[in-house]
Amino acid sequence: MKQFQFDYIDDRQFAIEITKIRQWCCTSVVSHVVFQIYSETIDRESIEKVCRMISEEMPDALYFGCSSNGNIISGSYSGNNIGIVCTVFEFPSTKMIMKQYTLTAETSDAVTDDLLKILDENKWVKAVQLVTTIRGMSMTGFCKNLSNAPEDIQIFGGGAFTADINASFACVFSKDGEYSENGVVFWLLGGDDLNVVSTYVTGWKPLGKRFHVTRSEGSRLYELDGEPAYLVYRKYLNISNDRNFFMNTLEFPFLLQFNGISILRAPTLSFDDGSLSMTSDMESDVIAQLAYGDPGTILESVRAEGTKIRDFRPETVQIFSCAARRTFWGNNEISKESMPFQKIAPTSGFYTSGEFLRTMGYVNQHNVTMVLVGMREGPANDTDINELEVDDTDFTGKMALINRLANYINAAFCDLEIASVTDGLTKLYNRTEIQTRINENMMYNKQLALVMIDIDNFKSVNDTYGHGEGDNVIIGLADMLKSSCEEHSKVACAGRWGGEEFMVMIPEGLDDAVKAAEYLLNKFAEIEFPLAGHRTISIGVTAAKEDDTLDSLLNRVDSALYDAKHNGKNKYVVI
Ligand code: GH3
Ligand code: MG
Ligand code: MG
Repeated sequence: MKQFQFDYIDDRQFAIEITKIRQWCCTSVVSHVVFQIYSETIDRESIEKVCRMISEEMPDALYFGCSSNGNIISGSYSGNNIGIVCTVFEFPSTKMIMKQYTLTAETSDAVTDDLLKILDENKWVKAVQLVTTIRGMSMTGFCKNLSNAPEDIQIFGGGAFTADINASFACVFSKDGEYSENGVVFWLLGGDDLNVVSTYVTGWKPLGKRFHVTRSEGSRLYELDGEPAYLVYRKYLNISNDRNFFMNTLEFPFLLQFNGISILRAPTLSFDDGSLSMTSDMESDVIAQLAYGDPGTILESVRAEGTKIRDFRPETVQIFSCAARRTFWGNNEISKESMPFQKIAPTSGFYTSGEFLRTMGYVNQHNVTMVLVGMREGPANDTDINELEVDDTDFTGKMALINRLANYINAAFCDLEIASVTDGLTKLYNRTEIQTRINENMMYNKQLALVMIDIDNFKSVNDTYGHGEGDNVIIGLADMLKSSCEEHSKVACAGRWGGEEFMVMIPEGLDDAVKAAEYLLNKFAEIEFPLAGHRTISIGVTAAKEDDTLDSLLNRVDSALYDAKHNGKNKYVVI
């Protein structure tokens, strides 16, 4: 495998480059020559001119490409309009097929059906690379159908884009079809000696608050926590609903779990009703968090995934990286993500509107992600290969500031979250939290039991020894409840119900609750407080019944406690 990469400057220079490739091919064993063409502009004429020149100069060569948000040539963002990558395959066993289809919502199923048929007829296929137009189209069905390809076939690629990220069109083209603004090109590769490895890097980390996706249909996200989704960007990031909305939100996608992995979804548009058009489909009833790019995490991830690629000993590396990453790093620093690979093998690719990768069987459309693909013909070369060099030395200025602010938000948010569910004096759950937990447990646990506790004659502690000693007794009981729950159960938990009353949730059932009551009664009586000496408690115990509501269950445990008080205190009553 040999690769030639260069920026297209003009016809003369291109002719010289092609001559070089032809000359190299004359002196070598060649099975296939494939040109990949990435264009920041969507100028049909110049794209077609490049394609024509390839057809004329090297009629046997295949070519395909797409418009892009920037091209990666020799491991870095090129800044040039058109980038050309020519791969020469040398092994006679390497096989390939190139197919272009018109892709719209209407043709999507037929396209994937046809591809699956081709895969079925060509068992040698090991990898499917794709470039596709996607703006304004849900790719969920497309990805789902592609996931039906035989398990061992790797699938990856990128969504066409343009330099103007607000443009709603993009194009693909290939030797198998013409310039198309609604199309997909598949490049099927395989054969005994062809080897492919694929992985991905994100590095975006979740930020603070967790939102419940209460309404989402396809790629239209309507509501988060029951409110118009747009309000999240307005309230938390101060982003206006204007023509810069996409540009401003691109770096703050939502992170959610999908097909067993973390996926990022960015909004592309916000509507008058406050709903958002997302880069890809989102499911309802999942938890989503805003995410931000953390340079350190990104480069750590480049190092980890890059090492996998390096150990594979690729002869070429391809990168399909989200345009949002370029916006995030800026043109001066974006190549920090891609340059490490150039040290290992010729590295090329483009900035996309969506990245495709099959992981654990599922083909996912990612966003804000960098998909990495290594290819090699023949066995891994065990001669020396360069180490992956990731430049993560100088995060100063803006990047360091962002990182520290995000860290502050997450740490402060964590504190607040703990504070909002716990009681200040005892550090047990507060009443709202323990009630929420009881309510949740009731929904699926038929044997849930409750233990309600009240300190006997507590008023007299306050009156005789002062509030401080009263607090000591409350804290003493709380600590005992906390350690008892931890010692005796994985699921029981305790909360302060109010004043000197406590509630313990025992999901294991009535028997355990009765044992707990007996244990707590004796254990508390053993404690000796500095001034108040030994004190006692009264306890009510009950278990949930089939037709219980939260209220009926709570009323019953309260009555049990009332009975214990009225039958002489320092005892437990079960009803
Ligand atoms: P009984 O045996 O019937 O439960 O009588 P009691 O005196 O324990 O109950 P009562 O409800 O009459 O008094 C509870 C007292 O607890 C009243 C209130 O001032 C006190 N209290 C509530 N919260 C706190 C607190 O955080 N610290 C202290 N020291 N006292 C508290
Ligand atoms: Mg009381
Ligand atoms: Mg009391």
